[in-house]
Amino acid sequence: MEKLLRDGRLYVFLEQIDKDFADEVQSRRCEHCGGVLHRGDYSRKPRGGPSWDRRYSFCCSRDGCRKRTTPPSVRFLGRKVYAGMVVVLVSAMLHGPSDRRLQWLREELPIDRRTLKRWREWWTGIFVQSAFWKAGRGRFARLMIQALMPLELVEAFGAHQMEGLVKLMKFLSPITTATCRPGVGM
Ligand SMILES: [Zn+2]
Repeated sequence: MEKLLRDGRLYVFLEQIDKDFADEVQSRRCEHCGGVLHRGDYSRKPRGGPSWDRRYSFCCSRDGCRKRTTPPSVRFLGRKVYAGMVVVLVSAMLHGPSDRRLQWLREELPIDRRTLKRWREWWTGIFVQSAFWKAGRGRFARLMIQALMPLELVEAFGAHQMEGLVKLMKFLSPITTATCRPGVGM
């Protein structure tokens, strides 16, 4: 998992998926009034990943509406300052971490303990109680152990490898949109 977090090909994949999500949203119109959507990206500076500096987002161009539509993202998990894949893989590593991993984490990604504790609480508390997870867990062949999230997801998707991680980030991407955010936001 450590190598994967630094693999430039993964970044390219995830960027492309976010672009596709954004194109799809823009090809539709404002869901409130039918107005044309214009780009209005959020600036972001996620840590622990490449220098992704914008989260795609759109604003309705019609006066009096101007509502925002933000596509799902495989790169950004909510408003977290860390790239989504870091939040997933590092949180998974927290379950039964080896000394070597902890050492690597300390050196490469100095994430403070409070943050790690919050991530763990989010996965094992808020995420597993979310409507998203309650609707989505049925697709897995076996019962997923809530206390071992997100390691259970990493294993189910084979997200130790790039292809699996991309699939997992796609699976999780609906929780990153504004419409899903209440109750699941980080
Ligand atoms: Zn509108």
